Amino acid sequence: MIYRTDYHMHSSFSDGRSVPEDYIAPALAAGLKEIGFSEHITLFKEHEHWNMYPANVFSYINHLDYIRKNTNHIKIRTGLEVDFIEGKEKETRAFLAPLVLDYVIGSVHYLGEKTVDFGPEFYEGKNIDKLFESYFNQVFNAVSSGLFDIIGHCDLIRIYGYKPSVDLEPLYRKLARIMKKYDVVFEVNTNGRNRPLADFYPDRRFLNIFHEENVPVCVNSDAHMPARVGQYFDEAYDLLRYMGFTEMAVFEKRVRRMIPF
Ligand SMILES: [Zn+2]
Ligand SMILES: [Zn+2]
Repeated sequence: MIYRTDYHMHSSFSDGRSVPEDYIAPALAAGLKEIGFSEHITLFKEHEHWNMYPANVFSYINHLDYIRKNTNHIKIRTGLEVDFIEGKEKETRAFLAPLVLDYVIGSVHYLGEKTVDFGPEFYEGKNIDKLFESYFNQVFNAVSSGLFDIIGHCDLIRIYGYKPSVDLEPLYRKLARIMKKYDVVFEVNTNGRNRPLADFYPDRRFLNIFHEENVPVCVNSDAHMPARVGQYFDEAYDLLRYMGFTEMAVFEKRVRRMIPF
C-alpha cells in the first residue's frame, strides 16, 4: 500500500480558498493517508492579507481537533508555516511553546521588509548572485534556529526564474549538511510547478546532494485550494525514488518517524 502525506496546505484560516473540510474529499481521491494544514503565521511584521492573525491560532487548532474527531479514513494533522525572522528566534519559540502541533514548517519569504515571492520587480536591478546568497543564509539560520521540523520551499528565491552566474552546488551542499546536523526535513514542494518557475522546489539538479547527505524528505503540495491537494505527487515520488530516496518523514505531535514509500 502506498502511504502518502501532504503536510503543506493552506485553508481560509490564512490565504487558502476553502475551509479545511473541503480538502478532505480531494485528499482521499488522491490516495493520501494523512493531510496537514500549515497556515501562514508571520510574527513581528506588519499583518499581511496572506497571514492568519496570531490571535486566531487557538481557534484554528480547535477547529482541526474537531474535524479530526469527525473524520475517518484519513489522518488530519495540525501544522503551521511560520516565517523565520532573524533576531526573533526567542520570541518565535515562546509563541510556539504552548501550541499543540504535529509539526512546524519554517519558511523564508522575507528578505528585509519585502517577500521574495511578491512579484518579479523585487529582483529588478539587484545582484542575483547576492540575492541567492542572502536567501540561503536566511534558510541556514532558519534550520539552525531549531524552531522548525520542516523547511518550506528551501529555494523559493528561484520563483521568477532568475539565474545566478555562480555554481550553486556549494550552497545546496551547505544547506543539506546543516539540515542533517539539525535533523530538519526538506520538502519537495510541488506548487513551484504552478508558479512562474514551473518546477518543483528544491531544484531537481541538486536533489542528489540531499540524498548524499542523508537529509529526511517529505512531499508537499503547498495547496491553496482543494483541487491542488496532492498535485504532481506521482512525479515527485518517482523523482525521489530515482534519486535513491526510499523513506519519507511523518509527524505526530512534533515527533518524526521515517516510513518507506
Ligand atoms: Zn511559503
Ligand atoms: Zn505555504
